[in-house]
Amino acid sequence: MNQLAARVKKITPSITLDIAAKAKQMKMQGIDVCSLSSGEPDFDTPQHIKNSAVLALQKGKTKYGPVSGELALKEAIVNKLKKDNKLDYTPDNIIVTNGGKHSLFSLMLALIESGDEVIIPAPYWLSYPEMVRLAQGTPVIVETQAETNYKITPKQLLKAITLKTKLFILNSPSNPTGAVYTYQEIKELAQIIVDNDIWVVSDEIYEKILYSKAEHTSIGAVGEDIFKKTIISNGFSKSYAMTGWRLGYLAGPNDLIKTVSTIQSHSTSNVCTFAQYGAIAALEEEESSKCVQEMLNAFTDRRNSILERIAAIPKISCPIPMGAFYVFIDISQISKSSIQFSDDLLEKYQVAVIPGQVFGNDNCIRISYATDLMSIEKGMNRIEEFIDTLK
Ligand code: PMP
Repeated sequence: MNQLAARVKKITPSITLDIAAKAKQMKMQGIDVCSLSSGEPDFDTPQHIKNSAVLALQKGKTKYGPVSGELALKEAIVNKLKKDNKLDYTPDNIIVTNGGKHSLFSLMLALIESGDEVIIPAPYWLSYPEMVRLAQGTPVIVETQAETNYKITPKQLLKAITLKTKLFILNSPSNPTGAVYTYQEIKELAQIIVDNDIWVVSDEIYEKILYSKAEHTSIGAVGEDIFKKTIISNGFSKSYAMTGWRLGYLAGPNDLIKTVSTIQSHSTSNVCTFAQYGAIAALEEEESSKCVQEMLNAFTDRRNSILERIAAIPKISCPIPMGAFYVFIDISQISKSSIQFSDDLLEKYQVAVIPGQVFGNDNCIRISYATDLMSIEKGMNRIEEFIDTLK
């Protein structure tokens, strides 16, 4: 249809969601599919979180609420940011949104306009460039290397900055690579951001999923100057297995958050009122920490198992992921196209993975281990068989 707005002609649908849907459909047709594609924990939402939402529903929390979120939730978020991330905010600095995706989308609309450049390190979460384009901005993709665990270096960031640069998108722990930036790395990036007076949005949605001795550093906490140029994006989907609840939040300077709130007031209004009471329960550390730890223990076993299997397959490799629940595997020695590789793997061996091309790196595929150990084992057996045929 050629009457569509120019802005949507440049964007593509979310391929990760497409592939996950295709795998689900094949399963429904009775095909024995191993889905290693989903960016969603396979655990159910912890019971105390569900109970809190049910209680709120029963108490009549069924009406419109404040656009930027229930005050009690915003206060809980302020406490969380102080305690976990050493960030000093008040409820005025917070907006509750319909998920991390919604947060980032509204933020782009508030901050980015035609002529603005947004620096995005590749591999990136596939929605970032599309959101920038929808806001009429220009994504500036900076390719990172396996040698630096796919983390952007200060030198690379500095080189990408121009007079048009408005925003830098930082995602640690990273989807799709599992990379986690160290305190020192974050501090060096922060210095460049401050020196060049650009904004940074720090997507911290995987912050609680960390392995080994990895620690999460929130960029806004490494200095007073960077704090003023930082917007934090976080949410409940990954840490608390709440993907379907659609709950996220932004924290940042008051006037910017107010603007995002104005946008939200004309788009979605407030987030589902009773769902926000589930989020309040999720932030109650005493009850949630045990559930989060249990999920983390399961992710750790799965990660160890998958890394062992990858190490045993010749000609493929990946950096050791330190966070999130993905491995980003280099398949360039056996295939010239990650799309072809992923299509063939799904068609011939019924294993769903995501081609790296959609994350801006065609040499790799992304495997998610947010699924049970048996499926991982079975999927890896099939991947090994498939790769055997390609040598
Ligand atoms: N950021 C990253 C890096 C993600 O991987 C995702 C989900 N795949 C999101 C944000 C958005 O998550 P949600 O909208 O479910 O909060």
